[in-house]
Amino acid sequence: MNLAKKIVILGNFGVGKTSLIRKFVTDEFSSDYKVTVGVHVLKKDVTINNTTFSLILWDLEGTDNLQKINSAYLSGSHAFIYVYDLKRPYNAIELEDNINFLKSSYNVEILKIVGNKVDLLTKEEFQNIKNQSIQPNFLSSAKTGENIEKLFREIAIELT
Ligand code: GDP
Ligand code: MG
Repeated sequence: MNLAKKIVILGNFGVGKTSLIRKFVTDEFSSDYKVTVGVHVLKKDVTINNTTFSLILWDLEGTDNLQKINSAYLSGSHAFIYVYDLKRPYNAIELEDNINFLKSSYNVEILKIVGNKVDLLTKEEFQNIKNQSIQPNFLSSAKTGENIEKLFREIAIELT
């Protein structure tokens, strides 16, 4: 049985993809902004009910157009995590297009939508999330670590 699971983290530039992975893998956060060039692959083991999964995390260079991503990076994935930035104006059309593109182009079991940078939201901004047409599966913060462990553990559990 192969317990290595490929998870690709997608989303626009600067939404916090690299930070989320880094927080999960090394428990570090930095506010320095270093753009990811190409693709970085990191591994972290997660144990669920005595079974250990190697989560192979693919951190892709941000892109505003998922259709331009080399499909070799995306194929064979067990899960996609689509990250957007809660501080940026909510763009339903972009979000819907990207989610629909991923669902229709790749036969992937699991797709999680993550609204990141929840630590920066005002009360009002937080309240407004519930009016969005697409609801995120998780609200995360790479700064405080909120919901990051939970996100990856939930994916691992769903992959069992
Ligand atoms: P990427 O382009 O999607 O990989 O985004 P990065 O991980 O490089 O993050 C872009 C910027 O946002 C960096 O300056 C990070 O420090 C910052 N950032 C990322 N996640 C968070 C978060 O949850 N909260 C806050 N306050 N800043 C974040
Ligand atoms: Mg990055």
